[in-house]
Amino acid sequence: MSDTNYCLSIVIPCYNEKDNIETIVKKVLEVPIENKEIIVVNDKSTDGTEIVLEEKIKPLVSKVVYHEVNMGKGGALRTGFQHATGDYVIIQDADLEYDPMEYTKVLQPILDGKTDVCYGSRFMGGVSKGYKLNQMANKFLTALSNVFTHQKLTDMETCYKCFKREIIQAVDIKENRFGFEPEITAKVTKMGHKIVEVPISYAPRTNEEGKKIGFKDGVRAIYCIFKYRKG
Ligand code: UDP
Ligand code: MG
Repeated sequence: MSDTNYCLSIVIPCYNEKDNIETIVKKVLEVPIENKEIIVVNDKSTDGTEIVLEEKIKPLVSKVVYHEVNMGKGGALRTGFQHATGDYVIIQDADLEYDPMEYTKVLQPILDGKTDVCYGSRFMGGVSKGYKLNQMANKFLTALSNVFTHQKLTDMETCYKCFKREIIQAVDIKENRFGFEPEITAKVTKMGHKIVEVPISYAPRTNEEGKKIGFKDGVRAIYCIFKYRKG
């Protein structure tokens, strides 16, 4: 039987998410995992997010950490991981594209002792969603990353990445923006981990709704796949 007495740390990078942060934190709180540590990293938002954090979020979560300057998602995660104390760590964007009720799916292979790193894939079974161009870019980047890592991933760029805490804390994340996805994939591979994937759902938001990833990030991801291919 797998361990039920564990603590899951949920790291939420947060940049200009004043309309989403309360909803996502409440969804995370509803997840039927008894011990949860929620860490929100405010990546120097400029839209008044910090007012929502101070007034509404602080009493609900374990930690709210503030950046002095905007770093990017990778930078926010680096800070968040440093503060994590749970047995396992999962990444949660501060938007509503992913469903926290699926944490247990992503965690299960780790609890079962099958792996120490599990990704939730948006492209395993089911219908593909979101901008066609984004989907194509994700598939291309995943395939290119697989060439070097020899992992058999279908969605390297997914937000839902779950790790045993010691593993993600041992990764020295250099990339401040979205390049950290190929970077950590390469680095956990070099540490000898076989990444398991499970299917998850996805409800993509539009650029108008606040999606921040762009063309430049895709180019950087290609660069990072090459840069970190040796770990
Ligand atoms: N984010 C951040 N700093 C930034 C840009 C984004 O912390 O400079 C956060 C953002 O608030 C969100 C996550 O990183 O929680 C992913 O951003 P987004 O949803 O725009 O990217 P995508 O879903 O396209 O990967
Ligand atoms: Mg998102």
